Amino acid sequence: MATLIRLLPKSPLASRASVSYFQRCLSSSVAASQSDSLVSPPVHHFTVSPNLNRRDPKDRNVQWVFLGCPGVGKGTYASRLCNLLGVPHISTGDLVRDELSSSGPLSEQLNEIVNQGKLVSDEIILSLLSKRLVTGEAKGESGFILDGFPRTIKQAEILEGIIDIDLVVNLKLREDVLIEKCLGRRLCSQCGKNFNIASINVKGENGYPAISMAPLLPPESCMSRLITRADDTEKVVKERLRIYNEKSQPVEDFYRSRGKLLEFDLPGGIPESWPKLLKALDLDNYEEKESAAMA
Ligand code: AMP
Repeated sequence: MATLIRLLPKSPLASRASVSYFQRCLSSSVAASQSDSLVSPPVHHFTVSPNLNRRDPKDRNVQWVFLGCPGVGKGTYASRLCNLLGVPHISTGDLVRDELSSSGPLSEQLNEIVNQGKLVSDEIILSLLSKRLVTGEAKGESGFILDGFPRTIKQAEILEGIIDIDLVVNLKLREDVLIEKCLGRRLCSQCGKNFNIASINVKGENGYPAISMAPLLPPESCMSRLITRADDTEKVVKERLRIYNEKSQPVEDFYRSRGKLLEFDLPGGIPESWPKLLKALDLDNYEEKESAAMA
């Protein structure tokens, strides 16, 4: 992992070109790959050189993916890393929830799919992701950490066809803890931050280590505004885990076979896991250097 440090931000312009290319290709790939979806958002065709985005990693920002079961903490760790590395955190789950709350044309259909714990069609996801990348590009964003995408082999193949992913971090946690974490998850309806009221203490058994996680409680100002995600009920969480095992676990093998997968077993809550994750990513000194530079 010593080479990872060399992937850190270099040229925003080079990266912007990659994102632009990514967005165009997503639009054309989805048009080519999907014809059976219930909803057909407008997609555009672009003619682009297939090798335009195959840039030397030294000349661009990081392009990483976070994989892991629902509730494992992809959003928490991806967004912390994004703050550290200065890249956008792009969560397709957040894009879906934004679309739901906007009461746009897709929201009724999305509501039903998400509340049952099912996956949204590739066409809709790719359309939302394309839109997000265009907005980011206009704001001068570069590089990204993708969270919640790709979630199927088809999505991974589309992504691989258009852009180089440098690294895929696979966060892992035992299933009983995942369920407890999802059931304890709360969201502030005002500021949008995630919290968790679960106090997890499970004993080591069947080869799994013991895990303790303190609750991540909200500040006083968020306390009266906490809401629970509609798909964080026990029934829906179990369905999401089933779908993860069926559709998304093969994505782990996809990247493992390409030598891009970094497996990371979470040892506990954020205080124990964060420093170990930074070490696994060879970024443990990076945080110190960043804070020294900010001082
Ligand atoms: P998440 O917040 O990542 O758990 O995502 C919430 C919900 O959004 C999922 O249960 C899916 O219904 C939908 N979703 C998010 N990302 C994807 C994706 N890449 N493919 C299909 N559906 C997705």
